[in-house]
Amino acid sequence: MANNEESRGLKSLLDWFANRRKSGNINLERQEREIADGLWHKCPKCGVLTYTKDLRANQMVCTECGHHNRVDSDERIRQLIDHNTWRPMDEHLHPTDPLQFRDRKPYSDRLRETQEKIGLIDAVKTGLGQINGLPVALGVMDFRFMGGSMGSVVGEKLTRMIEQATQRRYPVLIVCTSGGARMQEGMLSLMQMAKISAALERHRQERLLYIPILTNPTTGGVTASFAMLGDIIIAEPKATIGFAGRRVIEQTLREKLPEDFQSAEDLLKHGFIDDIVPRTQLKNTLAQLIALHQPVLTTPHMVLWETMSLSSTVAE
Ligand SMILES: [Zn+2]
Repeated sequence: MANNEESRGLKSLLDWFANRRKSGNINLERQEREIADGLWHKCPKCGVLTYTKDLRANQMVCTECGHHNRVDSDERIRQLIDHNTWRPMDEHLHPTDPLQFRDRKPYSDRLRETQEKIGLIDAVKTGLGQINGLPVALGVMDFRFMGGSMGSVVGEKLTRMIEQATQRRYPVLIVCTSGGARMQEGMLSLMQMAKISAALERHRQERLLYIPILTNPTTGGVTASFAMLGDIIIAEPKATIGFAGRRVIEQTLREKLPEDFQSAEDLLKHGFIDDIVPRTQLKNTLAQLIALHQPVLTTPHMVLWETMSLSSTVAE
């Protein structure tokens, strides 16, 4: 009798656990399904669930902890450029496989698969547009396309955009995110560093403004060229910015590196970058910097600018 009661008690306890596990699973399944459907987004930093629509309204910055989630090039252009002013450039430029490169699979297959999967031809979008009514040339790298790696197409598109900006006397903005030069194009990738830098130098000689915006992560050949050549260099909070990866450096030096090594905050402290701007303030900050550094050459501004130069001459 006692045994019976005991076993009944045990059974109901087991049932209770089973039920609990089952309902827990359902909740978890539902949660995961909703995350997969894109309705909800789980912050990789603080774990808080946010309604994707709210997160998007906050430019993909976690409202709880301020974590800057990665955004693709289309979303970035939407965030920065005034509605209906974006004019894309060189959309037809297509990567080729001059070295017939092959790692685990041929480079040409890898390109085709990536293009089909994410609907981009290569890892950068370039164009002309306006930021709060000010004309700019903007390049936006896309990390989804082979880690934002820089091959011939990325180099050529950025160079053509900078040349166009020099001709039109527009400021240049480049939103950087990259794993570095694209190894599948070997030397041709490395040449892009010099090509873009040369175009930027001609832009600089015309006394025009260039602002790179370093987002997470900006590494390798991109850091070693145009990401660090800005008149004013801006980074997003907590972005990883560096040349070689942490592990490689630690193994070479046989030394443990500090926790905040290669973070935007550490780079600011050591004078490598000029400011860290949260994404939600980026557009207005850029507009202010452009307005301050490059007065638009319309008559009223021209007069204002000339009056200013004159009065400073008088003051001397
Ligand atoms: Zn968060």
